[in-house]
Amino acid sequence: MGDWQLSGYTEIERLGEGGFGRVVLARHDDSGTFVAIKYLYERYLADELYLSRFRQEAYLLQRVSSPHVVRLYQFAETPQGAAIVMEAVPGVSLRSVLRADGVLAPEAALAVLKGSLLGLAAAHEAGVAHRDYKPDNVLVGGQRESKLVDFGLAVLDGQAGLAAGTPAYMAPEQWAGQPGTPATDVYAATCVFFQCVTGRKPYRAEDPQALRNLHEYAPIPFGEVPEAVRGLVVRGMAKELAARPAGARAFVAELESAAAAAYGQDWEDRGLRRLAERAATLVALSPLALLGTASVLAPAGAGGVAASVPVAAGPVGKGVLGSVGAKVATIGVGAAVLVGGAVIAVTTIGAEETPAAAPPPAVLVAVQTRSETSSDPGFDLNAKYVAVSGYPDPATDGKINALLMAPVDDYADQVRDQLRATPPEGTAEMPHLTSEVRIRAHTPDFLSVRYDFTLDSDFLWHSSWKQSEIVNIDLKAASGLSPKEVLAASTLTDTGTALLVDRLHEVNGGELCPGYGDSVTDRGNITTRALTGEQGKRPGVQLAFGPDGADVVISQFELGYPTGCGVTRTITLPYEQVTDLLAPEMAARLPSVRTLPRPTPGSPSPAAPPAASPSVSPSAGVPAPGGDPLSVGRLTIGVPFGWTVQDQGLERVVVNGADCPDPQRYSNCAYFLVTDNARANAEQPSYEPGRPYRRSANGRACNAAGRKDLWQEGTATKVESGLASVGAVEAVYEKWTVACVPKGSGETSGPVSVTQRLWFLPKSQVVVVDEWGSPEVDRMLAEGTVG
Ligand code: ADP
Ligand code: MG
Repeated sequence: MGDWQLSGYTEIERLGEGGFGRVVLARHDDSGTFVAIKYLYERYLADELYLSRFRQEAYLLQRVSSPHVVRLYQFAETPQGAAIVMEAVPGVSLRSVLRADGVLAPEAALAVLKGSLLGLAAAHEAGVAHRDYKPDNVLVGGQRESKLVDFGLAVLDGQAGLAAGTPAYMAPEQWAGQPGTPATDVYAATCVFFQCVTGRKPYRAEDPQALRNLHEYAPIPFGEVPEAVRGLVVRGMAKELAARPAGARAFVAELESAAAAAYGQDWEDRGLRRLAERAATLVALSPLALLGTASVLAPAGAGGVAASVPVAAGPVGKGVLGSVGAKVATIGVGAAVLVGGAVIAVTTIGAEETPAAAPPPAVLVAVQTRSETSSDPGFDLNAKYVAVSGYPDPATDGKINALLMAPVDDYADQVRDQLRATPPEGTAEMPHLTSEVRIRAHTPDFLSVRYDFTLDSDFLWHSSWKQSEIVNIDLKAASGLSPKEVLAASTLTDTGTALLVDRLHEVNGGELCPGYGDSVTDRGNITTRALTGEQGKRPGVQLAFGPDGADVVISQFELGYPTGCGVTRTITLPYEQVTDLLAPEMAARLPSVRTLPRPTPGSPSPAAPPAASPSVSPSAGVPAPGGDPLSVGRLTIGVPFGWTVQDQGLERVVVNGADCPDPQRYSNCAYFLVTDNARANAEQPSYEPGRPYRRSANGRACNAAGRKDLWQEGTATKVESGLASVGAVEAVYEKWTVACVPKGSGETSGPVSVTQRLWFLPKSQVVVVDEWGSPEVDRMLAEGTVG
């Protein structure tokens, strides 16, 4: 595109486009370290105002040192252009998180606000106001980090600047054209916090003048935010400067005490965890997945410890060039060297430090291109594909890469076979084969990739050459997951497959093929057609796993539709509608956040209305999926067909009747427990979050681990904690493993362990415990109501 590139770096992917320039992800050639480079647009190069602002941005970044502000590595000015080289944050903007999720749990929003305030405080202490704090300029990552970028509008405090900012978050004084101050940043940060918890900007208006009026005169709409954080919103968004906190750091102190009082001492831990989960899903889909961080893949067998970001080694000020020990001369600001005849002024910040330890190996997942030309028959291929690298055992890389390359080879084989069978006559045409590839999910143990192939040829023009292929890989085992391993056994039957097809119809407004919909009633042989295709070539349905649901790629023809309906299409089934059709091991691979519905943006629940009666809440709108409702305290869930409810002391036992000969003697069957924590007796004391579940009379045997002879009395380890949606409210969610030992033995470790998943509804005092890893429990809870 004619864009210049800073020498010594290889550009990988564009990360963003902004007011001043483009931001790209690049690799430092000598060290292999990833960096983000912001290039000033060429059109601004001759404009001294822009150039000086751009320079200033670099120098401001250099002055600020905080883990919450992106770190500057190098600033370069050349005749071709100017570039800021900075730490590549393995994250996505808060804006994309909000776009995907609508609202954040208050703890997560508080964690973002706290990080941002600390970053802003560091900037303020260096004499800089950011002046353009907004969701686009906050990057959040899958490793619990949040960092400020874009000091493009910052000016040294006290100097008058242009009245600039982003209207939705601009403080009254900024509207009035006054220079940005720390208090201006506090106002903007609070507006963004408001948006995080409510899903909306605090003030909305068609034209800037109306918006200005609202910021200057309208009451703060604090009624929309959860009660516990209203005080913070009122303080941070105060119209009078004097009524706002004294500074960003002072505001952090207020935030901490409000947060701890409302959400407990561990609010930040939960908030960061929740935030990281959400960000990780998005990072996995972005070019930054290259950093192997979102996805931070602990290489299989490497002790399961997540690798840290390769670039983030060493204290602030340790430049990337120095941190890897590359030989780079530190050249004073403004000094000039002659490189290839061009004068280049280079400022290398902090290149003289001692080399830091090499980053731990991280598994990289990268999109690559394979280009080749085949002769006899002649065609060329330009295929994007996904490849992994970095597993300690190269054989693992090899196995996974073979699975990832297979679709490209298969497609090329089809083209080759066809050209051999029916060679083009008298044409010198060269068919072009191309593929696009998308990483749909990427976690430490799972990778879901989608390929879309096209063939550009006048000779082989048929639409059936447009094909999609899904590859799902169990990364731990380095093996592919066929539809048989992805779907539940019950889905691999004619009834089960028909149910899947019905759901596809449902989300698609009742028909897959408008005009033919009702006429397609032939479901004979549907399982074979769905899984492998009638000819064993093309499955009728393939599932990839995206951030919001399963992408179901359908071969219309295989499902019995006329080719007039098109060859393939993709329908996204939200996880609520597909999790129960998946094999339990597959459902367990999906991060829990994906199996739970998110609160609808714009419909924040005000303080819960007092429960008039303990009956079923009518407002759910979600019918119980087939069975009877079960109410325990204020929680009501729909129990699906085939499940039964037994009473056992203070506990209700919900038993999965499938494969359970006698649900009344449920101890060998999958079940879960629902109890009202407000009711307790000597034998069954109340449950407390932060501990495994032990309130069952007589303790808990290890049935779920297949060892009725052992008891859950060994060491308990919390392996996960966070928040999970139950109906429209957030439950405290914890996952524990408890070692199984002989009863009363006092031993701490045993041959097996049980994994407890626990949901606790703090206000309603309802506890749900699942030891069988049943994905159905997630769905029942998500669809439940809390009155
Ligand atoms: P501007 O607002 O002037 O366009 P920004 O500095 O905000 O420029 O960068 C634009 C976008 O590029 C950001 O919103 C972010 O998505 C991405 N980006 C910027 N800096 C980094 C970085 N250091 N690491 C990763 N992504 C970045
Ligand atoms: Mg920006």
